[in-house]
Amino acid sequence: MTDRLLEMLQSKPLVMGDGAMGTMLQQAGLTDGGAPELWNVKRPDVVRAIYQGYADAGSDYITTNSFGGTSYRLKLHKLQDQVFELNRAAAALAREVAGADRLVAGSVGPTGELMEPLGTLTIAEARAGFADQVAGLAAGGADFILIETMSSLDEVQAAVEGARQACDLPVVVTMTFDTNFRTMMGVTPAQAVQTLSEWGIAVIGANCGNGPAEIERIMWEMAQARPEGVVLMAQSNAGLPRWLDGEISYDGTPEVMAEYAQRMRALGVQVIGACCGSTPDHLSAMRAALDGPPMTGYEPHFEQKQTETTAERRSARRALREQA
Ligand SMILES: [Zn+2]
Repeated sequence: MTDRLLEMLQSKPLVMGDGAMGTMLQQAGLTDGGAPELWNVKRPDVVRAIYQGYADAGSDYITTNSFGGTSYRLKLHKLQDQVFELNRAAAALAREVAGADRLVAGSVGPTGELMEPLGTLTIAEARAGFADQVAGLAAGGADFILIETMSSLDEVQAAVEGARQACDLPVVVTMTFDTNFRTMMGVTPAQAVQTLSEWGIAVIGANCGNGPAEIERIMWEMAQARPEGVVLMAQSNAGLPRWLDGEISYDGTPEVMAEYAQRMRALGVQVIGACCGSTPDHLSAMRAALDGPPMTGYEPHFEQKQTETTAERRSARRALREQA
């Protein structure tokens, strides 16, 4: 299987990803208890329009609406028997929109369960669950598998093995370092990039989290520890979540995200996208920035300590992590 992402990275210096799915679906009417993946078959028009918005904004790949597409997440909506169908539909719709010029990233998020010994999920069970999901994504036409928003290296291992069991598509991994610059399970950016590289993952990075200022330090740490040949990837949230009039909103403007994109490029990050709270407007601004000249005189100005987290922000963040 050709690695179309690495091929694209050889033909252009930067690949731009896309933005949020969960927050876009909510704007389109998905309710709190609703299953985003069900919309791949019930509201394909809405999912297609979100994909199209990112394609029009200049994204080089379209990420499938399948973040919660393992049986573990789908069973919360009693949809565990539709794993293959919902994931295949997510990828097939993205394939339609992506056409020949853009790639399709098959999104795989955490199971939401704790792995042994902290919890009850075994590596073998998790691996089988991920393999089922990835089989659907591959059947729908994904070009690569994007394992994202991960906190635990054990779960990443299960996901990578499951993906490799299900298909021969390349696998990309991003983890979320939102707990004092570590993942919720204590993994540092340096540990992530070194361990994942040993597992043969060529594109490694960070997504979601506490906005551009924190991700800048995370990517700086990854860049220091990056083994030869590893491509770095960043997909920051559009700022920090806040509760506003009973709804979660993000404080990062398109201008903030354009500057973030430039700063990522200055750090040598080659795959640059966005996560929760971002919209096609954010991605358009990032595209314009990345199509222009690189910034000159970059100096890291990242957060030295974690953004002060209020209880309110923590609960907004927890709600959001559920959707990447
Ligand atoms: Zn996110």
